[in-house]
Amino acid sequence: MIIVRWAPSPTGRIHPGNARPALLNWFFARRHAGRYVLRMDDTDAARSTRAFADGIEQDLAWLGVRPDSLVRQSERTALYDAARDRLIAMGRLYPCYETEEELDRKRARARLLGKPPIYDRAALSLTDEDRARLEAEGRRPHWRFRLDGRPVQFADLIKGQQTVNTASMSDPVLIRADGSYLYTLPSVVDDIDLGITHVIRGEDHVSNTGTQIEIFEALGGAVPVFAHHNLLTDAAGQGFSKRLGSQSIAQFREAGYEPMAIAIMASLTGTSLSIEPYETLDEIAARLDFSMISHGPARFDTAELDALNARILHALPYESARARLSALGLEGEAMWLLLRDNLRKFDDIAEWAKLLTGPVAPVIADEDREFLALAKSLLPPEPWDETTWGQWTDALKAATGRKGKALFLPLRLALTGRPDGPELKSLLPLAGRKACLARLP
Ligand code: GLU
Repeated sequence: MIIVRWAPSPTGRIHPGNARPALLNWFFARRHAGRYVLRMDDTDAARSTRAFADGIEQDLAWLGVRPDSLVRQSERTALYDAARDRLIAMGRLYPCYETEEELDRKRARARLLGKPPIYDRAALSLTDEDRARLEAEGRRPHWRFRLDGRPVQFADLIKGQQTVNTASMSDPVLIRADGSYLYTLPSVVDDIDLGITHVIRGEDHVSNTGTQIEIFEALGGAVPVFAHHNLLTDAAGQGFSKRLGSQSIAQFREAGYEPMAIAIMASLTGTSLSIEPYETLDEIAARLDFSMISHGPARFDTAELDALNARILHALPYESARARLSALGLEGEAMWLLLRDNLRKFDDIAEWAKLLTGPVAPVIADEDREFLALAKSLLPPEPWDETTWGQWTDALKAATGRKGKALFLPLRLALTGRPDGPELKSLLPLAGRKACLARLP
């Protein structure tokens, strides 16, 4: 059984860059009939809020992802404490007392000597008396994991064979001086406890993976398979930022985008699977293979998003639009099929529907006034159907000699108030004779 997890930190609203791993995990789970765990990485009590966590659940549901279970790290501290105690007993986790300033000085000194700014492990040589003295001074330890300092290898499902040499890394701090856990240890403990088989996440975590594999092994847990995907950047080539709050999934929703358009853009940008309308996420899941994910950065292009959103609407069947139309006080399949090709956002339909129901502000050029008055007198009697337009314009052509644009454009401008829009042949029977008469001078 395949089990994946998506592990956002609820420290802000999620953006497309966060939605990417949420979706890639979902596709993988669906493709392999696996399970999907939503894990809130909320150990940072100062920055995580329940409101952000609730927002993430909402955004995920809007995108169409349905987790099988939800866990919150803030409720699982006992597990982390047990792992902490085991690592301490093995000598893999050790207390350190340096302040930030002391660490800064050490790094600066290493740099001066031309050495990499790696933590010097001074705390490992503290005696019991040293520690007692430091604690008596009121210092509280933070805790570092003692790395093996070796090339850690793993076969990444996206990036291929990877080596992270932990000898070139500082022993990572796993526990802050206030006793709270940083992300690294709880993540491993949960991955073991929840039986996670595959960790699919952004490539900014590759070097963490070196550390985490060492922790998996120290705790005797099964090391999952890793897949690190390329990161999404915004249109300017910058990483999306949670703190900015701009370009959040919630904002795209409020701006009227289709969830499917956002899901496709967030997941398929920077892959070789084409960006086009798919009806369901499962359809993407069936097609997207990790070998299709490119290794370069993936730029989220809003012009491409707009084009995709429009294409999705232009293909949206009436059955899928019906409830949303009725929320806008609209109905009718013929109306939907006539107008959907003009939509950029779903709610644009309310404006377009006025072509049928009015009011329309006709646009009438002075030089066309006479022509349009004649057109009014030649408007065929009802009942109207799709042939009415042809009869009417044939009669007008015969009476005035006008043809092409000179014939059609003044009619369109008068009947719809704009130079573009739906086929008049189909619009006429839906709008009806009375409405058309009212728009002609
Ligand atoms: N909370 C981490 C993040 O958002 C999770 C990374 C992971 O998937 O392990 O970056």
